[in-house]
Amino acid sequence: MANHHQQVLRHYINGCYVTGKSGRLGDIYDPTQGVVAKQVALASKAETQMAIGVAAKAFPAWAATSAGKRAKIMFRFRDLVQQHMDELAVLLSAEHGKTLEDARGSVTRGMEVVEYACGISQLLKGEYSAAVAIGVDSWNMRQPLGVCVGITPFNFPAMVPMWMFPMALACGNTFILKPSEKDPSVALRLAELMTEAGLPDGVLNVLNGDKEAVDVLLRDERIAGISFVGSTAIGEIIYRTGTAHNKRVQALCGAKNHMLVMPDADLEQVVDAIMGAAYGSAGERCMAVAVVVTIDDHTSDAIIEKLLPRVRALKMGAYTDEAVEMGPLISPEAQSRVKGYIDQGVSEGATLVYDGRNATVVGCEDGCFVGATIFDNVTKEMTIYRDEIFGPVLSIMRAGGYEAALSLINEHQYGNGTAIFTRDGDAARDFTQRVQIGMVGVNVPIPVPMAFHSFGGWKQSLFGDHAMHGPEGVRFYTRLKTVTSRWPSGIRSGAMFDFRAGGEY
Ligand code: NAD
Repeated sequence: MANHHQQVLRHYINGCYVTGKSGRLGDIYDPTQGVVAKQVALASKAETQMAIGVAAKAFPAWAATSAGKRAKIMFRFRDLVQQHMDELAVLLSAEHGKTLEDARGSVTRGMEVVEYACGISQLLKGEYSAAVAIGVDSWNMRQPLGVCVGITPFNFPAMVPMWMFPMALACGNTFILKPSEKDPSVALRLAELMTEAGLPDGVLNVLNGDKEAVDVLLRDERIAGISFVGSTAIGEIIYRTGTAHNKRVQALCGAKNHMLVMPDADLEQVVDAIMGAAYGSAGERCMAVAVVVTIDDHTSDAIIEKLLPRVRALKMGAYTDEAVEMGPLISPEAQSRVKGYIDQGVSEGATLVYDGRNATVVGCEDGCFVGATIFDNVTKEMTIYRDEIFGPVLSIMRAGGYEAALSLINEHQYGNGTAIFTRDGDAARDFTQRVQIGMVGVNVPIPVPMAFHSFGGWKQSLFGDHAMHGPEGVRFYTRLKTVTSRWPSGIRSGAMFDFRAGGEY
């Protein structure tokens, strides 16, 4: 019986389900009703070491498999994901709470990374320099790191793992995925589909767990690379501990994304963009728009006037209702955290234009819902501006001028995404050149790069040197080896005591 129908979710190791024996369990909520629906086994140290052993044993044969053969498995996996799209979306939404349309969209974005990974033979091609000296050639290749780990957040339980493992596997690494313990079912199902696609056992393993498992993964000498996506507080620890143990680490972290609306912007387009980007997935996106910045009062007033009827009409509810536009937060804890931020915004003096604290859904009265919320007159000293709220709470800031708006964005600790809405090409060009942010949209509110580009922020939004997927993904999951070769040809250059390539130029 497949794991996701069980009440206690198991690990997926070496191509089959393994019952957790640690005795520790994590709760998985049905967030629409606010009740614990399932539990998940949290791995012990010994179980984590066992999973590492399995992935390490599978590595040599997988690394020696041709890139073309690895790609064929990816092609089959891609088709299986497409065939099982609706099933994957239901698994995801039941635990996360986001709408089915949003869930399907996120799986599709993950599938695009698989499509990119199908071209791995081309992506791994090295460089070659013939005759760098007389009779000497030089060339390079990219080789896999070994066993890699993915530690992923709850908000994109399929897409973020799919940013990682397809690239890692296509490059020839074996992989241990440690998904969020809040909604791991869809990741387990993806691993099953990889097996069905022909992936050898042990190459992709899903280990459920929390800090106890992660602490082992960060230190074990058999682990070569760690990809993390999650909050900044945890990501920084992952980065510092992993690198201190000689691992390559990329940690993509928290965000506070600003949308700058210039006075000449198309306000109908702006309001559509705000609705989707601030309240889609209940604001639980690292690319959500959390702050709208204007440079004149007229624009702020006009946005609020147009936004209010839209927010009032926003349909909140369970994912099972296809008409719903916004679901609940992930857990009662997240719900009270977000409500706490709204309380704090009020006490710090922001103007609460629309209050989502008491919004409820008929039939889901105990669900983890927080309604769409709007604050105006937010200032940069306020906690609701400095912190990532990760909920459906929008702040409007009146910067007073373009340079002040740009400085505001550049001074924020986070640098994940941003957008400018304008009809002025000069303003857009200046903004894209000078803004200190990793992903920038021009009249695009959520500028998530396509799979063949790379995803990653700046400042406290990314620790490490590599963004995810696209060309950066290939660089992260491989290391460069450069070969200088000479074949005996009767040419002798004599002993050389200088630093040339091995002969006469
Ligand atoms: P989180 O940091 O709580 O958890 C992320 C992962 O770390 C999970 O697998 C969790 O089990 C593990 N973890 C949690 N505490 C740990 C600890 N003490 N030691 C070791 N591991 C630990 O994040 P979350 O709440 O699941 O996700 C939301 C966060 O993720 C937000 O901050 C959001 O911005 C961020 N995020 C960032 C991106 C990005 O690309 N920058 C994308 C998605 C989400």
